[in-house]
This record gives sequence, structure tokens and C-alpha cells, in this order.
Amino acid sequence: MPLQTPRPATSGRLATRLLDLALPATCPGCGAEGELLCGSCRRALEVRRGLPPGTPIGLAAPIPIPVVQVEWCAPFCGVVRTALHRLKYSGERRLAGPLGEAMAWRWREAGAGGDLLVPVPVHPKRARQRGYDQAVLLAASAARTLGLPMRPALARIRHTVPQFDLGRRARLGNVCSAFALSGENERAAVAGSWIVLVDDVVTTGSTLAACATALYGAGAAVVSALTVARER
Ligand SMILES: [Zn+2]
Repeated sequence: MPLQTPRPATSGRLATRLLDLALPATCPGCGAEGELLCGSCRRALEVRRGLPPGTPIGLAAPIPIPVVQVEWCAPFCGVVRTALHRLKYSGERRLAGPLGEAMAWRWREAGAGGDLLVPVPVHPKRARQRGYDQAVLLAASAARTLGLPMRPALARIRHTVPQFDLGRRARLGNVCSAFALSGENERAAVAGSWIVLVDDVVTTGSTLAACATALYGAGAAVVSALTVARER
């Protein structure tokens, strides 16, 4: 029996294959094996396609004052919710790829620009436990698709109680002055720039507002925000 010569594979493809063998992906929506997020479930991220920018923001409160624009892909439910939970709590960091791309499409469609994408940082303790910061991964993925730079320019300066444990009023106080520029180089990069804040979910917008306040304090010209999902 003749021996078959193995087809050459690029090292990148081979590495991806090896990773897939080690950790086979299953679609968070339908459970399809070998799919990070299958084509049909990916449509859940496109429900706001075709909506012009500035359509009813739908936040329970008016737009957080220091943020001039907030865009998001989908409501925080169903497959989008499951995908974000897997990214945050199950170590499935590869999901940042399709989720970040969806954010980039929404941002592009909304006709929005920007100079620099800045992720909303999780507390370093949580990033250490998890081994990564999901907002950094999402921002990196969206930035690649948009062709814009990304920089983790913000840092948390004190630990906050998880937002879901708090009422609305307490949430606002909880995040107030929780953020600062992470260094002098970051301050210089932010000054005079249009910043697009990136987070996984927007709820009250108070976290975005607190980040925006820190960025304006460093001389940012405009602060907008982009998230995967919006939670009512
Ligand atoms: Zn699916």
C-alpha cells in the first residue's frame, strides 16, 4: 500500500488545529461541535444591523452625560448572553474574535469614527484569577477589524462591589472615581483624541461614565462607547 504524503499545513493553521484538538469548541447557541459561534447563531449579534446611529438608546437613564454616543450589537439575552458568559467565566477567550468583529461592524455601520479604542478594565485581582481581561480581548479584536489602535489606557484604582449586588443609586456611587489613567504614556495618547471605550455589556452606563470622566480629565477630545450587549 503506497504511503500518502501528508499535505503541508501552514504553522498558523496547524497551531489552530492543535488548539482545537485540545479544546474542541462548541457553539454557545446550539452546541454545534467544532464551531466557536456558528453562522446561524452569529445572527443574534446582527439584530441591530440596519438601525441608524442614535436610534432610541433605550437605557433606563438618559445617555451617561460624559459619553457622547453608546452603540451595542444586541440585547443581553440568549446566545449573546451565553457567549459572553463563556468568554468571561469559562475561559473561552477565542470568542473575543467573533464578538469583537460584531462590535466593529456595528461601529462602522453607525458611521462612527474614533482615534483609539480603550477597554474598560476589570479589577487586576479578577484579571489575575481569570488570566485575562475580556474587555482587552474584545477591544483588540474590534480594533483589528476597524484598523484602529487599541490601548489599555485605564486602570481601576479601587475595588468595587459587583454591580449586580447593588441598587441603581448605589451603582453610581460604586464606580465613581474608580478609574484613572494607567500611566503617563497613556495620558499622552489620550490627550486630544476621540476615544472609543469598549466593554462587554452596558447596564446603567455608570461604569462608562466613570471611565469617560477619567479620560476627559486626561484631555480626551470626545469619548464614545461600544459594547457587545445591552442589559435592561
Ligand atoms: Zn450555533
